[in-house]
Amino acid sequence: MHELPMTQHILDIALEHAIRSGSSRLTDVHLVVGDLAGASFEAIEIYWQFLTRDTPAQGSVLHMRRVPLELSCPDCDARFRPAELTYTCPTCGGTGTRAVAGDEFFIEAIEVDEADPASTSPPEHRT
Ligand SMILES: [Zn+2]
Repeated sequence: MHELPMTQHILDIALEHAIRSGSSRLTDVHLVVGDLAGASFEAIEIYWQFLTRDTPAQGSVLHMRRVPLELSCPDCDARFRPAELTYTCPTCGGTGTRAVAGDEFFIEAIEVDEADPASTSPPEHRT
């Protein structure tokens, strides 16, 4: 189970961006997860709920986009998405293929609450 440190890492980056942009609240984090990252969406989601507690990211929505594994064959330049877990080129049978997509694990976008509650409190909330 490596999802916990992965999720913690994502949260650290997201919070850093939120702080740098001067926002006090994170609303949405868009994550790109390749098949090869071997991460369970369900586990990341659970850890996200747990780790964001009492942080500016509490209540934020984690969006995850899966990128299928795609291989490239250096022998015949074929690019393919293996139907099964095989690294053999379907065009020439070469076995020296390497992943050209599917090993992603990064933040695609972060959305923050632009309004700073400290400076934009509605007048009716003041006593
Ligand atoms: Zn090939």
